[in-house]
Amino acid sequence: MKKLKVLLLVMLIFAINIVDFKSEVSAKTIAELREELRKMEEEEEQNNSNIAKTEAEIESIKNKVSANYATIDQITKDIIKKDEEIVSLEEDIKEKDETTKKLMSSLQATNGNSFYIEYLFGADSITDFIYRYSITEQITTYNERLIVEMNEMIEEANQKKIELKEKQQELNKQQEELSAQITELTNSNVKLYELGTTIEDEIKNAKQVIQMYVDAGCGEHEDIKVCANKLLPSDTKFWRPFDTGYVTSEYGYRNAIYVGDKLISSAGIHEGIDISNGLGTKNPIYSVANGKVAAIWYDRWGGNQITIHHKINGKSYSSSYAHMSKITVSKGDIVTKDTIIGYMGATGSATGYHLHLAISTGLRFTEYSGYSAYVARTVNPRNLINFPSRGSWSDRVHYYK
Ligand SMILES: [Zn+2]
Repeated sequence: MKKLKVLLLVMLIFAINIVDFKSEVSAKTIAELREELRKMEEEEEQNNSNIAKTEAEIESIKNKVSANYATIDQITKDIIKKDEEIVSLEEDIKEKDETTKKLMSSLQATNGNSFYIEYLFGADSITDFIYRYSITEQITTYNERLIVEMNEMIEEANQKKIELKEKQQELNKQQEELSAQITELTNSNVKLYELGTTIEDEIKNAKQVIQMYVDAGCGEHEDIKVCANKLLPSDTKFWRPFDTGYVTSEYGYRNAIYVGDKLISSAGIHEGIDISNGLGTKNPIYSVANGKVAAIWYDRWGGNQITIHHKINGKSYSSSYAHMSKITVSKGDIVTKDTIIGYMGATGSATGYHLHLAISTGLRFTEYSGYSAYVARTVNPRNLINFPSRGSWSDRVHYYK
């Protein structure tokens, strides 16, 4: 009984996994595709308004920063002015001090012939003497008071300078904070722009898909899978499935690959080409040409896989993709070369994130389905898709010799 319960539980988990694996639901009618398109356009509008908002915010912070710079500039000038004032006061003090000293020394000279003594004792009455005495007193007191006042002014200027420097420091700190804010906003705006580009591509592709169904004569509310059953959109060439990437393993005979004791791939023909880049599961995989999704499945070798049928210049082909982390289309969907069919992964038997891409002639799973029949029909993808002979490519269009 207990064993049965465990078995049932295992089966249940399995069933959940199978349901989980089912890729995203696709729309059934052109009307629904149009509704999806409308939502994408709304999202684009929202994104554009977010970009505008962020840009306005950046602009206002930049204005604050330049206002602060102007203030800092003014403060720097004020500090210089205070310094000049202090220097000039110090010079005045020195001068006054010297004058006083000179006066004092000439007045207080011990020499009996000194001017001070002569002046004082040259008085012709006691009143005159007191008068002469008070004059000399006043001159020295006046100079001393002047020096005290000037020293006070220096103190005041120094105090002001400290205040200005504090203000300057505060503003410099504020500038740092503002510039950090600008960096943050600029980064988030870059992300918004990237999102905008993605949405733009999705909108463009959704329009193409709708047009294909319309051209196939599907009505607005007809089930597109029924209506487009016979439809296989044609194309004139194959395109690279990544925006950027490089070839990591070529088509053809290959020795067995082991990681430790684990067999990753047995010796024999590697029936496709492996491509990769540093983006991991973030890397979108595009269909290599216009076509229709023929099969989606999982097995322990290729992981999440998908096969797409194509008609290139009247000849039929199948492209098969393996090790995907996620599949974003479903069986029967019409795709264009710009449709993201899923994301790169390392599911199944894989040593790292990459796409195993195989191209076979004829319609796989319709005209043939056994593995050896399929392998016999595979061709080197390099014969049909332009990959650089070495190094990476940086878009899907550039032609490498
Ligand atoms: Zn491979």
